Amino acid sequence: MTKILAITNQKGGVGKTTTSVNLAASLAVSGKRVLLVDLDPQANATMGSGTNKQTVKTTVYHVLLGDAAIQATRVTSTQGKYDLIPANRDLAGAEVEMVDFSQRETRLKSALEAIEHDYDYILIDCPPALNLLTLNGLCAAHAVMIPMQCEYYALEGLSDLVNTIKRVRTNFNPVLRIEGLLRTMFDPRSILAQQVSEQLQKHFGDKVYRTVIPRNVRLAEAPGFGLPVLYHDEQSKGAQAYLELAREILNA
Ligand code: ATP
Ligand code: MG
Repeated sequence: MTKILAITNQKGGVGKTTTSVNLAASLAVSGKRVLLVDLDPQANATMGSGTNKQTVKTTVYHVLLGDAAIQATRVTSTQGKYDLIPANRDLAGAEVEMVDFSQRETRLKSALEAIEHDYDYILIDCPPALNLLTLNGLCAAHAVMIPMQCEYYALEGLSDLVNTIKRVRTNFNPVLRIEGLLRTMFDPRSILAQQVSEQLQKHFGDKVYRTVIPRNVRLAEAPGFGLPVLYHDEQSKGAQAYLELAREILNA
């Protein structure tokens, strides 16, 4: 059975893309067949997977608008050992262009049906907004992974997201559930981070992944080379943390 995970948090810069790219690569080295869908006009997952957003011709934008078959947009991240549906800035216009489409929130879901059987895991990197693109991600997914930084406002944003997930479940996607909350850029020396982390565990219990992603400079450097951190510095704490997360998910 294919598992489709939307990696989402409407808060910006919390580690969604870093998690998408590095979890994709970590699952792939475990022998899983993985597809990463870039659903963000910033196209950071595209660049971080080694595809140039300036030159890529066919993207998820064309798929959403029905102008290209999803098979024709798929590229292989040769280093990352996973497949990618790339994005570029065109995607920013999709929301407006889809406004008159019927069933515009399930365009991605319908497109993925043609190829989902080729994969064990499909990861969808969502933009930092609760917009129509994210809604397409949530409608296509079986479950949501929420990366978050353990900061003061994190919990507040989380309740908005949980409410959105409930609404999507009621209106569009009855199977949608929270797969897990991932603590990212974690600094164990920060008292605040520890307090927020405790609150998170109190509210969400075993929905909080045991694996914690530390703040690690190698994770921030790797996208500059168009590589998952595993192929930039395998021994780094960041690479090891995402390998551990993949193991936690595979053993669940
Ligand atoms: P956006 O909301 O803009 O899509 P995002 O949630 O996808 O952002 P990322 O792009 O993954 O977040 O991360 C934000 C920044 O923090 C990036 O520069 C990234 O390289 C860096 N970063 C992410 N995770 C870590 C980490 N564990 N340690 C150090 N730097 C990190
Ligand atoms: Mg991102």
